[in-house]
Amino acid sequence: MNTSTTLWQHQLAEAFSNVDSLCRYLELDPAHLPLLTDYKDFPLRVPRGFVDCMEKGNPADPLLRQVLPILDELQQFPGYSLDPVGDLDAVAHAGVIHKYQGRVLLITTGGCAVHCRYCFRRHFPYGDLQLSSQKINQAIDYIAGRNEISEVILSGGDPLLLNDTKLQQLLQAIAGISHVKRIRIHTRIPVVLPARINPDLLHILSSQSKQIIVVLHANHANELSGQVINACHSLKDIGVTLLNQSVLLKGVNDDSEVLCELSEKLFVANVLPYYLHCIDRAAGVKHFEITEQQAYGLLQRMQACLPGYLVPRLVKEQAGAAHKIRLG
Ligand code: SF4
Repeated sequence: MNTSTTLWQHQLAEAFSNVDSLCRYLELDPAHLPLLTDYKDFPLRVPRGFVDCMEKGNPADPLLRQVLPILDELQQFPGYSLDPVGDLDAVAHAGVIHKYQGRVLLITTGGCAVHCRYCFRRHFPYGDLQLSSQKINQAIDYIAGRNEISEVILSGGDPLLLNDTKLQQLLQAIAGISHVKRIRIHTRIPVVLPARINPDLLHILSSQSKQIIVVLHANHANELSGQVINACHSLKDIGVTLLNQSVLLKGVNDDSEVLCELSEKLFVANVLPYYLHCIDRAAGVKHFEITEQQAYGLLQRMQACLPGYLVPRLVKEQAGAAHKIRLG
């Protein structure tokens, strides 16, 4: 294992996993916050580099709000479920979700470098349905047997949490399927753990015969530190197409100025804003939700302020639909 590989794994091991420690580091008094301190199903996890983008002493910091477990998550509401986008109905094989024509999604791992409190897969049964080494061949056979599949989406969890060996094996297996033209990697890691975008990973990605698309997940301009921007430039330099998807979150980015600043900063990082998602109604995330009408208002204000290429598509996902539903 070389030094650069060790660095990201070390940073991952050092991520905050204790709510009190995080509060103390950010100079906040845990006694004054409605914290969920002992939530084993989906505990706190956030790398220090991401925490260092937060404002100390600010309990309403938009990055902190995305990762801090709070009591609101325990409230139950009708319409909020464990599987809000119908993933389970679309499982074709363990680790394989086939929802849309021409594309197939692989649940490469259940692990993430950060636990986003609004995550639509926070209740996903990864133990049974992630792509373990024993199941890769079945998944590859499934894709190889369907000529209409032109794009494979690596998702999770976060696919860049796979170690280099596993990632390379998976990419090589997909490379052997001639009708697959593109591999799309959905990841939050360049944003929360940019040290993962190291020379070894860049070498693996640049060696692929298929086109590689990386869809980042950033919700606020404060997430795009100098290190994150450098990581994006490194990916761009090896020919990766970079897109971003954001989730609209109350108290984080439900403000057109915040969203415009995010689009402008993404472009500096060579990333095009792609999707602006209405939140998926997973149990425990209602406190983040804004209405579709509010979302459309935000989109209109963005359109008035930005060139068209910096305005993301406002969408929502509907279980069972043949594609994402575009709003506005
Ligand atoms: S990184 Fe993605 S999959 Fe992981 S918790 Fe965050 S939103 Fe969910």
